[in-house]
Amino acid sequence: MTRLRTVEEQLDRVLTDLRVPDPLELALLDAQGLLCAEDVYARAPLPSFDNSSMDGYAVRAADTAGATESAPVVLPVVGDIPAGSRAPRGVSRGICLRIMTGAPMPSGADSVVPVEWTDGGVARVRIHRPAEAGAYVRRVGEDIETGDLAVSAGTPVGPAQVGLLAAVGRERVLVRPRPRVVVMSTGSELVDVGRRPGTGEIIDANSYALAAAARDAGAEVYRSGIVPDERAILLDALEGQLLRADLIITSGGVSAGAFDVVKEALTELGTVEFTRVAMQPGMPQGFGVLGTEQTPIFCLPGNPVSALVSFEVFVRPAIRLMLGKRRLFRRTVTATTLQSITSPPGRRQYRRGLLHRDDEGRYSAEPVGGAGSHLLASLARANCLIVIDEEVTEVSEGDEVAVIPLLLSGA
Ligand code: AMP
Ligand code: MG
Repeated sequence: MTRLRTVEEQLDRVLTDLRVPDPLELALLDAQGLLCAEDVYARAPLPSFDNSSMDGYAVRAADTAGATESAPVVLPVVGDIPAGSRAPRGVSRGICLRIMTGAPMPSGADSVVPVEWTDGGVARVRIHRPAEAGAYVRRVGEDIETGDLAVSAGTPVGPAQVGLLAAVGRERVLVRPRPRVVVMSTGSELVDVGRRPGTGEIIDANSYALAAAARDAGAEVYRSGIVPDERAILLDALEGQLLRADLIITSGGVSAGAFDVVKEALTELGTVEFTRVAMQPGMPQGFGVLGTEQTPIFCLPGNPVSALVSFEVFVRPAIRLMLGKRRLFRRTVTATTLQSITSPPGRRQYRRGLLHRDDEGRYSAEPVGGAGSHLLASLARANCLIVIDEEVTEVSEGDEVAVIPLLLSGA
């Protein structure tokens, strides 16, 4: 029997074969969460005109000199400048205008006296503190000047970037798009949820689980129907999906059984390779490309835990790479095991676990449920994968282990 491929070797293969989809121009809110793929320069300055940062009175600072609580300066108020005011009249010596936050500074005025320093007068105002020249005025371009770089290529577009792009007049922006991922379950025993399974049938859990995982990883997801273990139907279904897919994920039919049709049919095509990877769960793995566009395809094993762990190990980094992300892998933490765990020799075990963090920030972890790759409920109770290296066959209570916390991106 050939040597098992290591997780790293398989990952290397997968990641070097992937193509990053071309940048796409999207409306601002659709760009949220994606990486900007262009340098966006400000077409206008921000602020776009001098304006008041306070509700108060636009004055010439010199006119307020010497004002105190007991000896206020009194100025006539010759008008109001609300926000949105187009052509405010100017301020000349010895008068002032009432001004609101964000309203344009009138010509002649060099500062704003906040309303809190005054009696709030409408026709005449008593000013109790002198203004400093320039005080409470937001200067044109002090945030960003015309021609300055507003958002650079490679920056994640979050709320502040969306806001800035809007503020500088951009309705659309070039981003690294979400890869369109098609998820397909294979297996003649599968029925879709909502239908009552007959004898020997089971409800398809994988297409839902993998679709959710792909979406969580940042993909745009399409769940295609269930495909039975029949070569012609499988090939037909895959061909149909190639039109809309940047990436295809199948589950089931990749082991050594008599009806493992995914492996049989795709091996014949010659562009998809089926290997055995030194891991548990998830030993049988298929990866390759399909069709004229060389669309990448992952053929994951059918057991739900195998499928999801394989997704975590191979597909999630692939989707992140397609999104242009720099960090492909989750951060692992070191934890003390609360229970001893055994692991098969020569295979890296990903054991479902519960990760705890104490008040001092120390981590501990314990396995949840057994090692069986059909134990989906245990995975649903887990919040981490405990990673036990290939050469380790037993960890004792109190030993340190590497743990991958399974945090949801949207959580
Ligand atoms: P396979 O990889 O096709 O040999 O399937 C391995 C095991 O996973 C079998 O017990 C299948 O019934 C089960 N299985 C395969 N596909 C799914 C699925 N989509 N949802 C739930 N269980 C599945
Ligand atoms: Mg099967």
